[in-house]
Amino acid sequence: MAALTIRQHIIEALRVTRYSSKDLAAFLGISERHVEEHLLHVARTVAREPGVRFILEPAACEECGYVFRRRSRVTRPARCPCCRSERIAAPRYGIEQP
Ligand SMILES: [Zn+2]
Repeated sequence: MAALTIRQHIIEALRVTRYSSKDLAAFLGISERHVEEHLLHVARTVAREPGVRFILEPAACEECGYVFRRRSRVTRPARCPCCRSERIAAPRYGIEQP
């Protein structure tokens, strides 16, 4: 699968519903690391389209509910700064358009 095709697949998937990078990795048959690289490009690509927004639903701690709002990277944080739990719900991505 060519890189462009994978990105188009990601864009089409995220227009329908929100996915974590793990969901996309399983769906596309590539590593989560690769998905995260593609997501950076996808975010930049869709930002150029008028009215289209790339959505990053932040990661959150499953123990105490802490939300990683300030985090702009697409990777998952390792542990909660509040309670030190490693049970972190992955960030999810989506594309919103009018
Ligand atoms: Zn926590």
